[in-house]
Amino acid sequence: MTSPARACIIGHPVKHSRSPMIHGHWLGKHGIDGSYGREDVPPEAAEDFIRSLAAHGYVGGNVTMPHKEAAFRAVSRLTPRAEALGAVNTVWYEDGVLWGDNTDITGFLENLDERAPGWDSRLKKAVVLGAGGAASAIAAGLRERGATEILVVNRTAEKADELARRLGDCIAARPWPPTSADLVGADLLVNTTSRGMNGKDDLDLDLSMLPADAVVTDAIYVPLETGLLAAAKARGLRTVDGLGMLLHQAKPGFERWFGKKPEVTRELRALVEADLQP
Ligand code: NAP
Repeated sequence: MTSPARACIIGHPVKHSRSPMIHGHWLGKHGIDGSYGREDVPPEAAEDFIRSLAAHGYVGGNVTMPHKEAAFRAVSRLTPRAEALGAVNTVWYEDGVLWGDNTDITGFLENLDERAPGWDSRLKKAVVLGAGGAASAIAAGLRERGATEILVVNRTAEKADELARRLGDCIAARPWPPTSADLVGADLLVNTTSRGMNGKDDLDLDLSMLPADAVVTDAIYVPLETGLLAAAKARGLRTVDGLGMLLHQAKPGFERWFGKKPEVTRELRALVEADLQP
């Protein structure tokens, strides 16, 4: 008899992660005898922990802040997306070999596909606020979908320059703060900074220069409606919150560990939304 498959989220801290709720929901839906837990691992132990995941009884897992770069170093094989980003958020075994992928790209793109259908049909220019891990994944995703000009606006100029160097020609670094001139002709505006999170200052950005058919989205999902999204809505623009990115990025891992393709349903979204209420 084979024992039930176990997966986990590895981070520091991981107490507030919603991943156990998402995967627990799918395990129940599919009637799978498996589990998904939390592993709070300090930075100095992260690389070794991930490298020896099977010895800890796991078939794989998700990796969150601040261990995505440690996971990149710990795995034996990388998908092209993980290789390009230098960060891994999903690990699994294939024939005993530990693989790493970065599914934040999928999460970002599928969230927009679901909630703003057609968003990329004429995509040319995008503006990305921030230059951290989420921004890299999002910029790479936008490039995959055909964006030809991606402005990366970041507080620390070196990080925006580094992102532009890593991802190539269509990315241009711009100084913080973002200006209305940056937004002229942009088909998409995305916030990946922590400005707008519960307890932090909102972004103060004049959206009047965005075209009427622009889409505005935020990687933040606590709160679901950030000040940026509220301002975009007030201007009549299409908006997409960050919760769907979290839900969609979880799908590839579940399929790898438990062998069933899960779906992001209204029921799952409502479950997590209820948990986000203060
Ligand atoms: P990160 O690598 O730490 O990057 C944080 C970014 O925010 C950096 O560009 C940083 O600028 C900027 N920033 C922080 N404080 C700022 C301030 N006061 N003013 C202006 N810029 C500021 O983090 P990350 O992993 O990219 O995550 C960023 C956000 O995305 C977080 O809110 C996270 O929860 C969210 N996220 C959501 C999902 C999802 O599934 N929805 C997935 C990943 C991340 P500097 O370079 O100057 O420090």
